[in-house]
Amino acid sequence: MSAVDPVEVKRCARCELTKPSEAFGPRAHTRDRLQSWCKDCGSQYQRDRRSSDEAVAVRDRAQVAAYRAAETALRKRHRDEFDALYDAERQKRGLT
Ligand SMILES: [Zn+2]
Repeated sequence: MSAVDPVEVKRCARCELTKPSEAFGPRAHTRDRLQSWCKDCGSQYQRDRRSSDEAVAVRDRAQVAAYRAAETALRKRHRDEFDALYDAERQKRGLT
């Protein structure tokens, strides 16, 4: 048994470059105890994900606003329809 880490170089699953194991972050529960992406790819991914998270948040806010507007319009239409029916019913019964 060697005291040296058996993995000295590793190929990054993302950029496909072979890098020294120091270029990979530690990760439990894997055979070689290393991340499958190098640290460069990891930080690039985090950056990409942050900006896409922001894009998603902007899109979600727009969707929520559109949904609320549609719901409000629908509710108003229902209320108007109800009011019209109610008025017609009252008139039919001679209540107005
Ligand atoms: Zn990489």
